[in-house]
Amino acid sequence: MTKNEALRILHKIQSYDGRTIGEGDVLAWHEAINDLPVEHVMAAIPRWFGNRDYQGQRLMPGHLRAIVEDLGHGRGLTDLQRTTLRHNQAAAIDACTHCDDKGWINGAIDHDDVGTRTTAFRCDHTNKPLPPGFRPD
Ligand SMILES: [Zn+2]
Repeated sequence: MTKNEALRILHKIQSYDGRTIGEGDVLAWHEAINDLPVEHVMAAIPRWFGNRDYQGQRLMPGHLRAIVEDLGHGRGLTDLQRTTLRHNQAAAIDACTHCDDKGWINGAIDHDDVGTRTTAFRCDHTNKPLPPGFRPD
């Protein structure tokens, strides 16, 4: 997180609680939460102000850290991370010429004992070598 991004975060908070923002605030907030992904912090702000339990409490960096950690806790990924991941995967699949629209490379492998079996491999979109004997469709 850059200091400019910390300022953006403070501006968003300011739109809720009307606090004044000085250069010292930017530096202090940046120091406190610069390890957190900006988009997660931005997503945590409306959760704070939209929750009636928090009314009247002045939002501090530690509150946002707790919300960001809660968002990621127990579900592995936050909604935001999941959405970003989905978008990135969709874009990679779109740009890839090796796999189908679900990210699979379909084909068949000849086995000595059981004959030819259709199978599929998860594509990493890098045109890495396929397993020996695999014939893509
Ligand atoms: Zn692919």
